[in-house]
Amino acid sequence: MLVKNYIKKLLLPRNKLIVLTMHQSSDQFDPQRNGKWIWSDTGFFEEQLKFLKSKFKLIRLSEGIEQIKKGKLKGTQVSISFDDGDISIEDFLVPLLKKHKIPATFFINTAYLNGDLRGYWYNIYNYLLHGNEKQQQVVQSMTPFYDVLRNTSNMEQYNEYRLKVEQCGEWIEKNVRFYVDFSFLKKLDPNLFEIGLHGHEHQRFSMMSGEWQKNNLLQNINHLKQFEQFRPIFAIPFGKPMDWNEETIKIARKLKLDIVLSNGGINRNFDQVIKRIPADGIEVPRIFDNLYYYAK
Ligand SMILES: [Zn+2]
Repeated sequence: MLVKNYIKKLLLPRNKLIVLTMHQSSDQFDPQRNGKWIWSDTGFFEEQLKFLKSKFKLIRLSEGIEQIKKGKLKGTQVSISFDDGDISIEDFLVPLLKKHKIPATFFINTAYLNGDLRGYWYNIYNYLLHGNEKQQQVVQSMTPFYDVLRNTSNMEQYNEYRLKVEQCGEWIEKNVRFYVDFSFLKKLDPNLFEIGLHGHEHQRFSMMSGEWQKNNLLQNINHLKQFEQFRPIFAIPFGKPMDWNEETIKIARKLKLDIVLSNGGINRNFDQVIKRIPADGIEVPRIFDNLYYYAK
């Protein structure tokens, strides 16, 4: 082993919880439904699963959190999580996870499960942008609004623009499904899978009032608490530092939720929040070769 690599390895904590976060997978990229940065090819995804299974004991995130809270974390523990409740979870991911008997945690936005709301600005915009001529025409005028939504720090602007884009959801065909539904969640094998919170709606909580954030989380909980697979864990939508604020943390704590981010990073002690490493379309062995990079 190169000295440099040896030192990097020494810098890593011996006992650690690694949580990977992913979104979509299918056998063919569909620009209307799939995002370049949140998708992986199913064959590729299965290769990553096989690698993980051959190297690690895979556990559900709630088990990892429990171990870390009790200070009983031993060696490298790995959990896999999926955000948003994308329909490809039903079509591709759960069948593969079951085949390899790999546990996973699904973070679900409950507002979209019955299809009344078609989703939020991201999936609505991208579906229409790659749709038929009329749909493209409708949504093209939304591009200047869409373009600022991910990064703006102006709450008023965020809400005005996101509603403009989201209103275009009425142009999406009624039979198109973006997300799983309640009956699918109910059927998930409770011995392998668990369900956590991702907001009733998928919005940047930092752009919302405290009142909105609280009501949104309460609705999310009310819809999911009926499931035996439910765990009181909240993966903040988008999950980067600009997507939540102090209020978000305060509200989640008050509701006794464990808080999960998508900021890159590994967990060694219980540190208020659980860090996750984005892993869509990424070769998992490379993540583990470069863990020192996430250890900061
Ligand atoms: Zn998400």
